[in-house]
This record gives sequence, C-alpha cells and structure tokens, in this order.
Amino acid sequence: APAAREPRRDAAAPSAARPARPQGAPSSPIGRRPASTPEVEEPLRAVRRPGGGARPATPAKPERTPRTVSAPKDPPRLTITTATGSTGEDRTRSVASYRRRVQRMSGKGHQEPKEKLIREVVVPETITVQELANRMSERAVDVTRLLMKQGVMKKITDLIDADTAQLIAEELGHTVRRVAESDVEEGLFGASDAPETLKPRPPVVTIMGHVDHGKTSLLDAIRHTNVVRGEAGGITQHIGAYQVTSPLGGKITFIDTPGHAAFTAMRARGAKSTDIVVLVVAADDGVMPQTAEAINHARAAGVPLIVAINKIDKPDANPQRVRTDLLQYEIQVESLGGETIEVEVSAKEGTNLDKLLELIQLQAEILELKANPDRPAEGTVVEAKLDRGRGPVATVLVQRGTLRQSDIVVAGSEWGRVRMLVNDQGETVPEAGPSTPVEILGFNGAPEAGDRLAVVENEARAREIAEYRTRQKREQAAARATVRVAGLEEMMSQIKTAGKKEMPMVIKGDVQGSVEAIVQALEKVGNDEVGVRVLLSGVGGVTESDVILASASNAVVLGFNVRALKEARDAADRTGTEIRYYNIIYDLVDDIKSAMSGMLSPERREEFLGNAEIREIFSVSKVGKIAGCLVTDGVVQKGAGVRLIRDNVVIHEGKLATLKRFKDDVNEVRAGMECGMSFENYQDMRAGDVIECYRVTEVKRTL
Ligand code: GDP
Ligand code: MG
Repeated sequence: APAAREPRRDAAAPSAARPARPQGAPSSPIGRRPASTPEVEEPLRAVRRPGGGARPATPAKPERTPRTVSAPKDPPRLTITTATGSTGEDRTRSVASYRRRVQRMSGKGHQEPKEKLIREVVVPETITVQELANRMSERAVDVTRLLMKQGVMKKITDLIDADTAQLIAEELGHTVRRVAESDVEEGLFGASDAPETLKPRPPVVTIMGHVDHGKTSLLDAIRHTNVVRGEAGGITQHIGAYQVTSPLGGKITFIDTPGHAAFTAMRARGAKSTDIVVLVVAADDGVMPQTAEAINHARAAGVPLIVAINKIDKPDANPQRVRTDLLQYEIQVESLGGETIEVEVSAKEGTNLDKLLELIQLQAEILELKANPDRPAEGTVVEAKLDRGRGPVATVLVQRGTLRQSDIVVAGSEWGRVRMLVNDQGETVPEAGPSTPVEILGFNGAPEAGDRLAVVENEARAREIAEYRTRQKREQAAARATVRVAGLEEMMSQIKTAGKKEMPMVIKGDVQGSVEAIVQALEKVGNDEVGVRVLLSGVGGVTESDVILASASNAVVLGFNVRALKEARDAADRTGTEIRYYNIIYDLVDDIKSAMSGMLSPERREEFLGNAEIREIFSVSKVGKIAGCLVTDGVVQKGAGVRLIRDNVVIHEGKLATLKRFKDDVNEVRAGMECGMSFENYQDMRAGDVIECYRVTEVKRTL
C-alpha cells in the first residue's frame, strides 16, 4: 500500500498537507530551497499528522496542479522511500537526512514534536510491522528502517515479538502498553470448589512400565477384551481410557499410555491427570530403562505407585529380583518392609488381577479423591482423531463437573457443541461425571492430546476463545518460522564448518498421539553430526501446502497411516518432493535411522501406479464382495500392491485378488475405464473409497 500511495501524496502535498501545518512553519519554500527539499518535507509531515499513517490516503484529493517547477524529475522516482533514504539515491538522502538531523539537534525542528502525537501503543505478544506502524501512526517504512538499523530485516507483513515492538515504539517516542490477549481466557477454568460440594470420585490410574513388560496385556486382561492383537506392529499407538469396577465395588478409570520410549512425553502427560500409577515390571526381565523413567515421572507428579510384577507364569520369572532391583530406585516394597504396595500378577493367566484392583481401590480410598460433579465440566483430552465416519472425535477424561450432551466445549484451539457422548463400551450416554472417560462427538476439529477441556456458556464465547488460540498458535508459529530463517542460515554455515547435517521433515499422521510419538522418536534419533528437524507435524492427509513447505526446505514428507491428497501428489511430482508412507512407527524410525547412518539397505521404492474410485459394491456368492470402480488416474495392474483409502486415511493394505473388465480377467486397466476389483482377505470396502495401486521395486543403494 505505501508504495502505491506515496507518489500520490507527493502530488497532494501542497494542497492537502500544507493547511494542516502549524503556524510559523515556512509556508512556501519553493524557490528558497533546493527543489527537492520541500518535496521531501511535505510528504513526511503529511504522514506524521495524527492518524495519517493509518489512513490509506490524504483527506483531500489533490487538484493535480502540474508541478513541473518543484518536481523536475520523474514523479514516481521521487518517493518518500527514495527521499528518506531507505533505498537508493545517495545524494537525495544525504541532503534530506542532514537537514533533519540539523533540525533535530538544533531544536529548530520544533514543529515536528508539536505535530507528533505521542501514543500509548497497545502491543500484544506478536504484531506485524504494519500493524505496529498503524498503532503508532507511523509509516511502516520508518519502522522497517529502524529495525534494519538494529540489524533485523523485516517486511511489513512480518511478525515481530513484543520486546522488539516495544523497543521500536519507544525509540519513536511512544509509550507502550503490553497486553496479553489471553484475557479472553479469563475465568475459563473455574475457581476451586467449596469443600461441601465435593463428592468422592473414582481414581484415575495410568499403567506405566518398560516396553513389552505387559502394560497393554494387563489392561486388556482387566477389561477382558483384546487390544493387543489388533495393534499394528504390536505396540500401542493410541492412548485409550477405560473404566472398570473393582471387586470391592468401586469404579477405577484406566488410561493406557503407550510404552515405547518414543512415547515419553505422552506418558509424562498421562501422569498429570493420574491419581495412581501402576508400574508394570516383567518378572523375567527386571527393571529396565523405561521402568526407571516411569518411576521418575510418577515421582515428579507426586503420584503414588503400585508395583505390578507381571509374567509370574513364566518359568524364568524372578519376582524377587524385581523387588531388589527397585531398591536402587528408592522404592522399597511392602514385603521388604517398605511402603510401596506390590502384587505379583500374570496378565496372560489372569492371576491376581482382582487383588490388583482391590489394592488400587484401597490406595484410592487413602487418597480421598473428590470432585464437584454439579458444575460445568472440565477435563483433559486424552486422545483425539479425525474419524472417517464421525468427524473429529476427542476422548476426554472429565475431571470435575458433569459433561452433558449439547454442552458447548472448548479444548485447545477447537470448539464444538457436544452432539454425542460415547462411553468406553461404545454406548451413547447422556452425561459423564468426574473421572469418567468419554468420547465427544461434535468438535469442529480435532483438539490435541493434553489440551484442557472446558464447558462455556455460549457459542460466541467458545468461538472467541478458539479463535484467539488459533491466532496465537499461528502467530507463534510464524514468529518461530521467521526466526528459523536465520537459524537455517546458521545451520548452513554449521554444515560447512562443523559438518552437522539436519534432515528436515514434514510429518502427517492419522491421530495426534502417533504424530507426537513419531516426532519424539525422531528428535531422539541422531547424534552430534546429524539430526532430524521437524518443520511441521499434524493430523490429517498430506496437503498441497505440506508439500510446498517441504519442497521449500528440501524436506521429505512422512505420512503415517494417511495419504496425500491429489493436489499434494501433483505438487510432489512437480517439485520432486518425496512422500513416504508408513503404518508402523518402528519402521519409520528405523528407516530414518538408516538413512542417517548412510547405510540404507536396498531401498524399497514405491512407485505410484494409479487410483480408482469405488462406485458400487456388488456381493457375488462364493467370491465375496467386488468393488465396481472407475480408474481415475494412472493405471491399475493385477498383482500390484493396493491400498484402500477412506477420507485420506489408509484403512487396508494388501493385494488385489481379481481385476476384471466386464466378465474377463485383465492384467491392467487404464484411467477413464471401469473395472471390478476384489481384495485378498478383505471385504469392508465402500462406495466412495479410493483404491491406490502401487508397485514396489528394490533399488540397490550406491554409496
Ligand atoms: P506393553 O508393551 O508393555 O504394552 O506389553 P504388551 O502388553 O504388548 O506385552 C508384551 C508381550 O508380553 C506380549 O507378547 C504379551 O503376550 C506378553 N505378556 C504380557 N503379559 C504376560 C504375562 O503375564 N505372561 C506372559 N507369559 N506373557 C505376557
Ligand atoms: Mg502396549
């Protein structure tokens, strides 16, 4: 905008700016000074007038008097920018700035302070250069110039932080009021409840321990269901929460935190909303690194521990060793005369599970856990995902109050009206009280695991808070991103000098928990010479903007259980950006590790062949279900690998059993043609799903 209006202001200066000048200022300098000087002075003053900087144009439109005398040069070249010296033209700048400096120093420029309005500038946590200039009624170019003087290069659309903004404002003589926009959040989480309103609530228990010591199995045995077998790669990928009844009659809520080292952050978070930690230690393996970590987390959170010595059914089980091992970590179990309750269990055979539940309840009774159920609900998001059929689904642990259908909720930067509450049994419930885990349907977007949830009085408030938080997130991200530019350059020199390499990545996954776990795991990978830098991570399919971001930084895009949208694939082709897909975290981390160590085994390269869209499903006796498809792009080939994708999430991966055109088996079908397909060992396809066809080739790596 300034560039567009400057020349006009030049022309406007004599008619519009001059009447506003205070008495005593030289009125018509033409002829008395060098021709260029008034041209410089006039627009400057026009802008310095109160509000001038914020207004797009000078109040009165100029009657364009030809200014041949005082503007001998091409008018467009003589702009404020050139005149004030922020670019080009040395000669003009030196005259103008010299004059101004002399004026300032001799105090002769007394008209300037008079005209200049000192403002109280409200400065939020981050602000764009333009907005800061507007609030000060200064010109954005002046602000950028000042920034430049301090060695900070910013465009007017760039964000600067509050400290920098304050420095600039004060330099220009304004006063600053720093505000936190977070004022909108005031009172979101209510004050503590009066003692008489508190009622007993079930304990919230987190099972922690080393990977493969049996956390999932134990929780599973308690629930009499079987999660273990359904997990890809055998590790827990998501946090779940469930409620069971102890043999003593009390309810107990369990939060399942995943056990891989990558999940440390989530586990730490799990402990925050946890009353009791059950520490699982396999009797055949003893105390392991993550056992120690779990102990530290529990201790940091001030949460009591119950030790479950698992796998006592195993012939090489040595529960006594577990007990003595634990002494090293200052945990003395009861049977060794200490305070910490321990119990020997077998998740596999169901041994002593009742006893474990009883001990949990007894421990909970000692803790006298209470909450007020008669107030608007507050809680914590345990997990959130985009469900293909149901939209955003958040698993929430209600911590106080009661959550009801059609409540308006805010969590993180998302909000929604509770459309449905689903309990851990998959049943719809009208409400959920303290310590109850429940799925919320009705959010506008998926919040993040660990976000705090609150019920607010109306949609307007919810929207206001969500918008504020979104803005804040975006601004912080932008502020971080601009910092990174310098960081990147630094990194480049580091690469040159120290040889440190960074592998930039963009990570997209199906649920927040997995994404977080991957980021955590990747950040741990690497050493002094080489490491991973995550540019962006998030939930959902790979979008075009993800690819563009990646290509700008020469990054790879990793999709975990998600696929790229069509535009994103195109962008990837165009920019030569690599998108890699995974469905097991271990595989992903291993791949990155080996890529880093430069010891890539024969690369399993995947070549995209084509896509087909399912139009209709036919049931054929004996054969099962056949999908009637239209090949939308590329080609579909018999014997190639296929994936079934619903809403950009991969729901099945396997091989084609049949590929038919009309009644005949064919080897391939090209774009634009219809065909019938069926999968090996898979039936649950639906109209609207997309079938992705790919071929895998092994490329020997040359080092
Ligand atoms: P997590 O990683 O801690 O969640 O461990 P899992 O629950 O996935 O269990 C890891 C492995 O240990 C699985 O193969 C289980 O079948 C096995 N396992 C778990 N509990 C027991 C147990 O009590 N006895 C025996 N023999 N095996 C168990
Ligand atoms: Mg597990």
